Amino acid sequence: MSRSTIQVDDRLERYLLDLNRPETPVQRQLRDDTARMSSAGMQIGANQGSFMAFLIRLIGARHAIEIGTFTGYSALAVAAALPPGGKLICCDVSEEWTRIGQKAWMEAGVGDRIELKIGPAADTLDHMIGDGLSGHFDFAFIDADKENYELYYEQCLILVRKGGLIAVDNALWDGAVADPSNQTASTSAIRALNQKLRDDPRIEFCLIPVGDGIALARPL
Ligand code: CA
Repeated sequence: MSRSTIQVDDRLERYLLDLNRPETPVQRQLRDDTARMSSAGMQIGANQGSFMAFLIRLIGARHAIEIGTFTGYSALAVAAALPPGGKLICCDVSEEWTRIGQKAWMEAGVGDRIELKIGPAADTLDHMIGDGLSGHFDFAFIDADKENYELYYEQCLILVRKGGLIAVDNALWDGAVADPSNQTASTSAIRALNQKLRDDPRIEFCLIPVGDGIALARPL
């Protein structure tokens, strides 16, 4: 079988972790704390955090949005990559999960760069659009309930400036998107968004196998 993308086993994963920007003590502690939770799989990997931080700095992002914060690891990676004065708006429905993140953000010294909005993200994003923040943001990370992915994408397309970046997580959904027999609501929603992004003339699109797959959309 020919593969154009390398398969990453545990040994290679450790090698990547060793070579990429190392996790800070706060990141490592947050990862360990989250690993004990039943929903730990919702946390992005360290390599993905490193890659997203790289993207943030690459595009010189100052203003970012995150939809789906969980225990705050991705927010920590994004906020730490923003310049002084940068701001990350985090949307989540869980006070219990985000409280864990808030503690880590303060310990890492980036708490003042993050504004947490508890409530349905679609409402929060609508309010931001209503408040005149269209085109205000440089970067958006979508990683919440998959059935609302398309809605979040449309809202982010309004809020993120041209030449900015929208990153959609779990775009490969553990491979399920390529299995036609898998028609669960989440799989179908992710599959539909991937196809929509591919054909969307408003953006430049690239789907990459980092972590569980990231769909990258650059508004034109
Ligand atoms: Ca995710």
